[in-house]
Amino acid sequence: MTEFDFIQKYLKNQQQDHQIVLGIGDDAAIVRPRSGFDLCFSSDMLLKNRHFFENITPENLAWKVLAVNISDMAAMGAEPKWVLLSAGLPELAEDWLHRFCNSFFGLLQRFGISLIGGDTTRGDLVFNVTIIGELPQGKALRRDAAKVGDDIWVSGKIGLAASALNCLLKQCDLSPEVFQQCETELLRPMPRVALGQAILDLAHAAQDISDGLAQDIGHILTASNVGAEIWAEQVPTLPELKESLSHEQWLKYTLAGGDDYELVFTAPENCREALQAASQQSDTPITRIGKITDSGRLKVVNSVSDDVEITLTSLGFDHFV
Ligand code: ADP
Ligand code: MG
Repeated sequence: MTEFDFIQKYLKNQQQDHQIVLGIGDDAAIVRPRSGFDLCFSSDMLLKNRHFFENITPENLAWKVLAVNISDMAAMGAEPKWVLLSAGLPELAEDWLHRFCNSFFGLLQRFGISLIGGDTTRGDLVFNVTIIGELPQGKALRRDAAKVGDDIWVSGKIGLAASALNCLLKQCDLSPEVFQQCETELLRPMPRVALGQAILDLAHAAQDISDGLAQDIGHILTASNVGAEIWAEQVPTLPELKESLSHEQWLKYTLAGGDDYELVFTAPENCREALQAASQQSDTPITRIGKITDSGRLKVVNSVSDDVEITLTSLGFDHFV
């Protein structure tokens, strides 16, 4: 199969929306934003042996490549609309491409997103997705908007993906059932788009957790020039994990593990009820795990009434450390 055949057969003429003026096939795509909306752009790259193991299935790979990008739109409170996919592929193997594309377009369809362009070259399995979303003008959930006194919330359960990864790396032991639950989160994270949009008028700052809860909260603190207190025992987890892991491991995978693709956000206290309604409306559990403070730094303690600070050896993942 040639590069042209691949584009024609697999990429062109998939789901389109009426805002696409020009899709795949020209030098560039054209989209027309709705009036009253801002466009929101992000891009995330995934490399073999860095972001995924070589033996990953094409279905899981396509999911992850796309889900991590959709998650960035969720974190801004944006509605994901269009993606560009750049792929380096060692060969154009039909069976592999067929499986990859089925999963890729399946997830796109779930969120009403269209593929509008990209690039294909021979390479050592590398993917870059650029995603574009729409946001009601001026409403984005930015990292620099946290205020002293805000509650800190997270969605879903944290630490499952990191537990699965560490189990694969033989750093911990999990029963097959617990491992399987955790591995699903590692391989098939579900971006929290509905929640992001539901909290647009309530939350101050937000971001998605990709590199570790502590580190990612740190980005909000730095951007907003505030501090925070986090209550480790409040961080939502899979109960079985607390039994399977040492307390130290549990803390590390939960607070500094990463790959969760849940949202962490801050909101004023008087929004608690409205946030619970947003959580129900978006069918996404949320948990209050701390407060924004004026200390200028992140303090982790076991529980609200505890004053003994927990020191973490690492706050999260950094590609260059
Ligand atoms: P150019 O030579 O201008 O870079 P290409 O031949 O690379 O154009 O691509 C032709 C068309 O196919 C373009 O519209 C491009 O956006 C699209 N395309 C190429 N690769 C991909 C891909 N992996 N995913 C989506 N669209 C793609
Ligand atoms: Mg090109």
